[in-house]
Amino acid sequence: MSASDHDRVRQANLSPDKIMHKLVSLAKRRGFVFPSSEIYGGLSSCFDYGPLGSEMKKNVKDLWWNSMTRKHDNIVGIDASIMMNPTVWEASGHVSSFNDPMIDDKTTKRRYRADHLIENHIEKLRKEKREEDARRVGTYYERASESEDPNKAFYDIIVAEEIKAPDTGSADWTEVRQFNLMFQCNMGALADSSGIVYLRPETAQGIFVNFHNVRESSRMRVPFGIAQIGKAFRNEIVKGNFIFRMVEFEQMEMQYFVKPGDQQEAFEAWREERFSWYTDRLGIDREKLHWYRHDKLAHYADLAYDIKFSFPFGVEEIEGIHSRTDFDLRQHQEFSGKNMEYIDQATGERYIPYVVETSAGCDRLFLALLCDAYTEDVVDGEERVMMKFSPKIAPVKAAVLPLMKKGEMGEKAARFRESLSESFPVQYDESGSIGKRYRRQDEIGTPYCFTIDHQTIEDGTVTARWRDTATQERIDMTKAGEFLGAKLA
Ligand code: ATP
Repeated sequence: MSASDHDRVRQANLSPDKIMHKLVSLAKRRGFVFPSSEIYGGLSSCFDYGPLGSEMKKNVKDLWWNSMTRKHDNIVGIDASIMMNPTVWEASGHVSSFNDPMIDDKTTKRRYRADHLIENHIEKLRKEKREEDARRVGTYYERASESEDPNKAFYDIIVAEEIKAPDTGSADWTEVRQFNLMFQCNMGALADSSGIVYLRPETAQGIFVNFHNVRESSRMRVPFGIAQIGKAFRNEIVKGNFIFRMVEFEQMEMQYFVKPGDQQEAFEAWREERFSWYTDRLGIDREKLHWYRHDKLAHYADLAYDIKFSFPFGVEEIEGIHSRTDFDLRQHQEFSGKNMEYIDQATGERYIPYVVETSAGCDRLFLALLCDAYTEDVVDGEERVMMKFSPKIAPVKAAVLPLMKKGEMGEKAARFRESLSESFPVQYDESGSIGKRYRRQDEIGTPYCFTIDHQTIEDGTVTARWRDTATQERIDMTKAGEFLGAKLA
């Protein structure tokens, strides 16, 4: 049995609820994620990242940013404001159609997304190899989405197919209603509608409205991309599953502008690149990642795939890859009256570029990384919990553990820690048995522990213990930085 099979067995023995319970509690106890404003009873679906969580989130964002802007000469970044001229959201279609179809269960008083209930039902039919039924419901669903009254059509499918609530098994449904997800607030002293602004529900529009600013200032030529990491806000009705669905979250989005006709090729290239980012750069288990092709497309898209992750509570989206056509730029041209065309300097051709978008949720990915890393095993006859983070994203890269606090050993350890801290986030721990100290580091996913012992004083070497296997090797203290750098590359 390989090491990764072993982890899976350990996780498979735990029920989904139990894994989530353990993760939420570890996240709080060790400073990854806290409930927001907890001393006041918290706020539904809002969370704070603690000392380790914020460090790790930053690592994830840096990896994404570098994989976009450093790795591609033709991708540059921006940081647009959260509040924008409200006409942006009329042009983008969010005011009129950023709605979710909601359905309530009268018995349990729980609320669900009607479209999700139907999609999950189709998926279930496929899994049960009832292909014909899946196709039949899929066709109804497609027609329902395009019908004049999708709410009624969704309701009819849910009732006809006897779809039950996934968590309670109840099916005492109300009718389906639309609910707009944008948060509104008032700017300035006026409380009337003239002061209404929205908290952006996606970061993408900040990129579209800056298309010419970025192109001109950075002298970009199509094809080129604009990347952005930032907060987005959605008044989600269905909440839950820890940080999976929040009302305030961070997106990592990149819009890639291409010549009309070139979008299919760009789409396939980005699909491949984004999937391998998760496996190769973040070290996520390949078997926990899945493709999902959208049958029902958003108003702006002509092709869309999701990358989904096997969370303990189900297979769910972590990133969407969308072929957004020229919809957004064309809409902004119409609503702003400004020309959004691109002129190809070489050929003189004029066109509104098509857009391929990669849109990842930082918080969902963070949760996927926690779920993927969580491992229980036995080391030296002792049960331990280990977060098997890729060293690249681990919040603490190494721990310095002196066997004795005082004297030459303590002094050497303090100096050693100081030198490593210049380049890496390092923890220093001198309290408790060495076994306990290893367990503390395993639980937060620290890849390497350097132990300073008697031999260190004699020959200047330390033991370097690798988290996953608990195996140790002796290395020269002066080479520890180099050693760590190589392991993190
Ligand atoms: P869902 O169908 O789960 O609501 P979506 O298809 O609306 O997601 P997109 O609009 O494609 O999501 O947003 C891109 C990414 O932003 C998603 O893949 C997800 O990772 C993240 N995201 C969207 N909504 C939320 C949320 N409420 N909380 C956390 N992350 C989110």
